Amino acid sequence: MANDPLAPLIAPLTDLPGIAERLARLLARAIGGTRVVDLLLHLPESHVDRRARPRLAELRPGEVATVIAELVRLERPESPRQPWRLTLGDGSGFADLVFFRPHAGITALTPGTELAISGAVTLSAGRPAFVHPEHLHPAARAALIPAIEPVWPLTTGLAAWQVRKAMAAALARLPTFPEWIDPTLRHRRGWMAFTEALRAWQAPETPPDPLARQRLAYDELFADQLRLALLRARRRARPGRALTGDGHLRAQALAAFGHALTAGQCRALAEIDADLAAPRPMRRLLQGDVGSGKTIIALLAMLRAAEAGAQAALMVPTEILARQHWRTFAALSPVPVAILTGASTAAERREALAGLASGAIPLVIGTHALFQREVTFDDLALAVIDEQHRFGVAQRNEFGAKGRRADILMMTATPIPRTLLLTHWGEMEVSRLAEKPAGRPKITTTLHAAAQLPAVIAALARALATGARVYWICPLVEDTAASDLAAAEARFAALAARFPGRVTLAHGRQKSAEREAALAAFAAGEKPLLVATTVVEVGVDVPEATVMVIEHAERFGLAQLHQLRGRIGRGARASYCLLVHADGGGAAEQRLALLRDTTDGFAIANADFRLRGGGDALGTRQSGEPGFRLAALPRDEALLRIARSDAAVLLTRDPALASERGRAARLALRLFGARGRGESG
Ligand code: ADP
Ligand code: MG
Repeated sequence: MANDPLAPLIAPLTDLPGIAERLARLLARAIGGTRVVDLLLHLPESHVDRRARPRLAELRPGEVATVIAELVRLERPESPRQPWRLTLGDGSGFADLVFFRPHAGITALTPGTELAISGAVTLSAGRPAFVHPEHLHPAARAALIPAIEPVWPLTTGLAAWQVRKAMAAALARLPTFPEWIDPTLRHRRGWMAFTEALRAWQAPETPPDPLARQRLAYDELFADQLRLALLRARRRARPGRALTGDGHLRAQALAAFGHALTAGQCRALAEIDADLAAPRPMRRLLQGDVGSGKTIIALLAMLRAAEAGAQAALMVPTEILARQHWRTFAALSPVPVAILTGASTAAERREALAGLASGAIPLVIGTHALFQREVTFDDLALAVIDEQHRFGVAQRNEFGAKGRRADILMMTATPIPRTLLLTHWGEMEVSRLAEKPAGRPKITTTLHAAAQLPAVIAALARALATGARVYWICPLVEDTAASDLAAAEARFAALAARFPGRVTLAHGRQKSAEREAALAAFAAGEKPLLVATTVVEVGVDVPEATVMVIEHAERFGLAQLHQLRGRIGRGARASYCLLVHADGGGAAEQRLALLRDTTDGFAIANADFRLRGGGDALGTRQSGEPGFRLAALPRDEALLRIARSDAAVLLTRDPALASERGRAARLALRLFGARGRGESG
């Protein structure tokens, strides 16, 4: 590409004048990429306005000021613990420069020197002072102080001036891009050109126009939406396989199931069937709140593959879930179902591997173990991934690669906010199970301060006396895992002392056999009180359980609490969820009240998304996918919607992106594409 306008931007940082390997490495760490464009898209968090140039007599504490003044006195402190004080004068008054650990350049200054200083003004010993000002130069070099200074996220060893210099060199390379935004939209919004917006934000001479950031955020969202739309279009154009069946296996499974499907289940299954029957690869996300009945849909979809003479696999995130689904499937499926997990016995494993390779076993359920190289299928046509937010995009694809053009169905119980469906999962079609099977009992949720724990335990004793089965959930997070685990074990010991012989314990650090045994004892009712960490969060199905106590509820996200609560209210009896939170937490209590007042998973997920901010709510961190650099959700939701429809309109008019605007849009796709990860990263 001789005339590629992006060539100077996709070049490595070391290509910029004055940037050697070491600095390039530091920059790469701060900006998360190794190319010039990664630097350009590293936006400052804020800007410092250094334009105020008062006389010393006019300095006001709390403001940022730039002054030119003479050094009139320099005081060496009596003890090394005391700061250095340098006195400045400019004829109007005096101010101090204060340094706790000055470098040699400061201590060597001599009175009479004219200095240019910029920083925040404070009050020290009754006088206006600059404590460690960001800028201090000989007055002759006052021009080094920017009028408006961007504040970029830095990293240890990297100084702001180094980023500023590198940024200036990078900005100098910007070509004039053809416009990829729809001209009417740009005009209506009053947006400047891309390069102008970038300069306004990265090297401003006046406080940056908010429209500049808006335009940049839009560019990123537009490129992302265009990328997703292209992925969808490409997938639809790719040959897949058409899976059809006569329904005889399904009919048997449904008869064994004994319930009629809900209207929502019928609709979702029809959408899945249409995808399976179409000669193109399926990528569908089945989204349904906890207890909405996704498992039977998975089985029926998989049986369609079996009816077509092919194989299907269900992958789940935990051993517990694999075993549970396997039991369910084994009871309903008219064809053999294998199980394969890290804890499979040698015999179980041998049988599964042989059956899958020969095709004798059409269905399999497993954990990550299904990824292993030794696992081969005779003809894998459908992969179902349950609770898919726990798997990243890379894993989705890896799994799909086990079969010849396998269809993929992802299922999640986490009600994903619409915004994330449009971005993170945007390359997929979505089916939603809106309602739950009829006759579900009510779940009453109550809040309790930790001081009320004795009353909670007394209520528990009454519930156990009537034969209830109870979950007692303790938090366990990676950062404080050891102390959390100790707390869970202490709680188990205390409850076991209170209710001898009736309590069991399950957590992720146990051997899986031990955990399995604990869960089985709970499911069978032998031990009606289960103390557990969030290992029971996803999918565990013990319909007889009617009470859940969640300790330190304030430490959980709302969506996660909703998942946990979904473990009760699954049978015929009314259920109770008791959220115990740290004392005196007004804000925590308010947040938890939302959970008390609604069981609508979508309302909860949206609230959680808003409270915790877009990146974190579900996902980008869990799945390891990069978030946005210039846009931020939910703040830019309105822009996202425009970007989505604009990308769709462009692709409808110009599917090959061959028009002038289409070619410009290709540049945007490349500009905002994956970050560079060269060897210096
Ligand atoms: P989830 O969507 O959380 O995975 P499950 O598939 O575990 O939900 O279903 C929850 C419970 O509802 C299970 O006990 C399941 O057997 C039951 N169920 C599913 N569909 C129906 C239905 N159409 N009628 C009655 N019960 C159903
Ligand atoms: Mg489930």
